[in-house]
Amino acid sequence: MLEERPLTACPSCGGEIDLTYADVGDTVICVVCGAELRVLSLDPPDVEEIEA
Ligand SMILES: [Zn+2]
Repeated sequence: MLEERPLTACPSCGGEIDLTYADVGDTVICVVCGAELRVLSLDPPDVEEIEA
């Protein structure tokens, strides 16, 4: 595969999180469950759920 996208799983629902346009420290929203996630790392891609 030539095009590798940084993908990880939502810690809340297991849905796919695309970090292609994210940076470390950014907040991304899970498109599946709406959870707010903080980007911990891009290599490997990792996120944590932000406690509301
Ligand atoms: Zn989710």
